[in-house]
Amino acid sequence: RLYNEVIELKGNIRVFCRCRPLNQDEIAKGYCSVIDLDSSHENDLHIICSDSTKKQFKFDHVFKPEDSQEDVFIQTLPIVISVLDGYNVCIFAYGQTGTGKTFTMEGTPDNRGVNYRTLEELFKISKERSSTMKYEISVSMLEVYNEKIRDLLVENSDQPPKKLEVKQSAEGTQEVPGLVEACVHGTSEVWELLKSGSRVRSVGSTNANELSSRSHCLLRVTVTGENLLSGHKTRSHLWLVDLAGSERVGKIEVEGERLKESQFINKSLSALGDVISALASKTSHIPYSATDLGETICSLNFATRVR
Ligand code: ADP
Ligand code: MG
Repeated sequence: RLYNEVIELKGNIRVFCRCRPLNQDEIAKGYCSVIDLDSSHENDLHIICSDSTKKQFKFDHVFKPEDSQEDVFIQTLPIVISVLDGYNVCIFAYGQTGTGKTFTMEGTPDNRGVNYRTLEELFKISKERSSTMKYEISVSMLEVYNEKIRDLLVENSDQPPKKLEVKQSAEGTQEVPGLVEACVHGTSEVWELLKSGSRVRSVGSTNANELSSRSHCLLRVTVTGENLLSGHKTRSHLWLVDLAGSERVGKIEVEGERLKESQFINKSLSALGDVISALASKTSHIPYSATDLGETICSLNFATRVR
């Protein structure tokens, strides 16, 4: 009911903007934030451009640097739990490398992100509803790098990995036949699973951070529900996605492997952009200048295009 009320109020797409705090390195270098925090409020963000003019971006919610993982999670809550009512849901984190996508989705052991908090909540609610509903929750984890899918729930072995492809099912959902679907029953089990998936992701690359910024990481939660009174059954997916960095690769770097990677990233992110454009009725373009400011505005434009 909560979900339906929210949808009626705001439509079925939500766009949030999260501003991370400046890091040690940025502070040491004397960088300042381009966000005008005094003018930025709950639903809009003001960016100070290089010519001192301000640009305003509207969102469903803007998270400030001091906002916690919990604050972010609470905003996503009504949407994510709708997977228990049979709705397909997707959350993706978009932005330049270093802006906090992995921190937001995955988090750290002491400061867990949306992925873990969501599963924790799904278990909690399914328990509360256990007198009328029977739920089964399973989890898959995959990485897309250079358009190849890697199953992160398969431990690295000497065997050549299975070739995995995305197929559309008769019901119109996206499926990856052969992907491991691990049935999960509680939060400690989930945390172990998410950790092992991240571990598999980082093995096989010399620089884990480097690789993770150029691949998409997808956590798929599958929920099957059965109403014990009516016998009505549902099956739905919740996708929690940590996208590859959206930055354009500099001209000098564009050669060899790196060129191929950036072409695949650009292709997939622009395909995503096409989907967003198709969903939205209006588009806007704002020209940009300096490096990070440019990327920031690009991301903000991308995010607000849907509204
Ligand atoms: P991305 O995945 O977008 O490349 P990360 O999530 O790895 O970026 O974030 C880059 C760094 O900034 C990490 O060290 C992360 O812990 C830190 N960070 C990101 N967002 C926040 C935040 N909101 N609060 C504190 N630290 C953050
Ligand atoms: Mg990351």
